[in-house]
Amino acid sequence: MAQTGWPPATIHGANGKAPFVLGCEHASAFMPQFYGSLGLDDATLRSHAAWDIGALDVALRLCAQLDAPLVAGAISRLVYDCNRPLEAPDCIPVQGEFDPIPGNTGLTEAQRQARFDEIHTPFHHALARVIDAKAAEGVRPVLVTVHSFTPVYRGRTRELDLGYLFHSRGEIARAAVRIEAERGVMHAAVNEPYSAADGVTYTLQKHAEARGLQAVMIEIRNDLVDTLEAARSMAGHLMETLVRAVEIAGQSAEVRA
Ligand SMILES: [Zn+2]
Repeated sequence: MAQTGWPPATIHGANGKAPFVLGCEHASAFMPQFYGSLGLDDATLRSHAAWDIGALDVALRLCAQLDAPLVAGAISRLVYDCNRPLEAPDCIPVQGEFDPIPGNTGLTEAQRQARFDEIHTPFHHALARVIDAKAAEGVRPVLVTVHSFTPVYRGRTRELDLGYLFHSRGEIARAAVRIEAERGVMHAAVNEPYSAADGVTYTLQKHAEARGLQAVMIEIRNDLVDTLEAARSMAGHLMETLVRAVEIAGQSAEVRA
């Protein structure tokens, strides 16, 4: 907190009893004063480049409805992207959708390390603590991370409504997409609009796969969750799919065991 003066993560519903742990790395567009504007205009600082629009509202509703703990990032990913390791070239993005990010260009190793230590590390410690607390109760939680994506990126329109992503264990993601097809409300796909190959499954790998837990990353097109009402409605939709997908994934794991 030395430079930012702001806690880099918040924990909601810490005592939630469901066998789920929720994560929302890109929950906030908050820019600590220390970093100024990074040389960006206000529109960019409020845009999808700075945070995942609507993702926190969805995650908070899931937290309440599922009764599951949620760890949410509290600082803009423009400063440090908590879903990336320090080795990732885009953990501190130097290029936005269209323009370079002046305040992130030419940083020293010490400056990069300081952002990692002050933003990434506390977020991931908080998530690890929440998962360990479940384990201490004898529960093997499913990690669900909640993200949103922009409908138009670099001029290309994305038709997808929902992406269910995984790192290497795809049971829940695949079950969720099958359920979405049956429900027929959302256009959903596995590992779209990104996949592990794009380096977006760091949190899943670090916290779930490393512990042998199941996990899924949900990507929601942000125009479906850009009001509180829409986000809450989406959370209701996701909850139904998730609970059924975990049930199916659990059964297939038992069959294999
Ligand atoms: Zn995201």
